[in-house]
Amino acid sequence: MDIYISKLAKSLTPYVPGEQLTYDGLIKLNTNENPYPPSPNAINAMKRKTNDDLRLYPSAECEELRYAISEYHELPGKEYVYAGNGSDELLAFCFAAFFDKDKPVLFPDITYSFYPVYCNLLGLKYLQIPLDENFNININDYNIENAGIIFPNPNAPTGILLNTDEIISLLNKNKDTVVIIDEAYIDFGGKSVSHLIVKYPNLVIIKTLSKSHSLAGLRCGYVTARPKLIDAIIKVKNSFNSYTMDTIAQTGMKEAIIDYRYKLMQCEKIIKTRQKVKKKLSNIGFEVLNSKANFLFLKHYKIPALDIFEFLKNNDILVRHFNTPDRIKNHLRISIGTDSQMNIMVEKLLAYIKSDKKMNR
Ligand SMILES: *Cc1c(COP(=O)(O)O)cnc(C)c1O
Repeated sequence: MDIYISKLAKSLTPYVPGEQLTYDGLIKLNTNENPYPPSPNAINAMKRKTNDDLRLYPSAECEELRYAISEYHELPGKEYVYAGNGSDELLAFCFAAFFDKDKPVLFPDITYSFYPVYCNLLGLKYLQIPLDENFNININDYNIENAGIIFPNPNAPTGILLNTDEIISLLNKNKDTVVIIDEAYIDFGGKSVSHLIVKYPNLVIIKTLSKSHSLAGLRCGYVTARPKLIDAIIKVKNSFNSYTMDTIAQTGMKEAIIDYRYKLMQCEKIIKTRQKVKKKLSNIGFEVLNSKANFLFLKHYKIPALDIFEFLKNNDILVRHFNTPDRIKNHLRISIGTDSQMNIMVEKLLAYIKSDKKMNR
């Protein structure tokens, strides 16, 4: 049957998401989902919108929704915004809209692993720039001719935040190509650089509602950039699928954006929990990076990450372990759940670490 499969499809190495296990009693801390429910306003608006009007096509250009987002970010208008089905889709459109094949796209060696996947799909060259020994992005390492630059801020899976001055400096040094900042986790302790859009024509920001707005299941995200760049994204979108966002998703997303106070409250809770858990885990021998995201990235000074991963899995707690790259094989990424979920995890780890068998090998 191989003769029916295109060379392109044969050559692909797809992104592998965290395991989507679900069963009663499982504490799922492996894909950075939010433990709290989405805005009740968003849920109610979507229920009201579930009616006979679904026979009609949705708004192709998501006007109302994009207007609400531009208001939230205090941008001049909806032409500074594009909305789509989650950041992953937006990343694909942006890669196609902004990156050429002649030079490499630059991103960190340790980062969101979808970036190389899209480069391969679109036939783009890329260069992975190593993080320094403390897992920081050093912007001086990006003074290389490029087709564009992309990284998450805070970075994933490290959680480390790059400050705004450094982003400005990167934008100034890289005037001929686009810098995409993936702000998937910005609400958990960072500050969006969306106000820089009006000043920097090479800045593109991608944001998802999957993490801070508890809407991973609805699939929504957006891009902010100068109108010419947004037009290019829309051109790519309309060469692929005119109606990416359905009516229900546009409605729920708009209400979630408007109800930003609710989001802030949930994020505050997660930040508090994160800081408590970080302290507790540091006290039992974990080296925990300074995360500004809804997860912690850590390793134990003695016990291998895979042993801890398996112990937790056997105890119905699922966290994330990465097999590559080599530098992070001994780390784990643990999403921040509710206080009670995290307490259970910490207690289990404490008992495990105290067991003589482990510490005396
Ligand atoms: C979760 C995540 C995304 C994807 O978000 P979706 O909107 O759910 O597709 C994008 N970038 C980073 C860095 C992420 O962690």
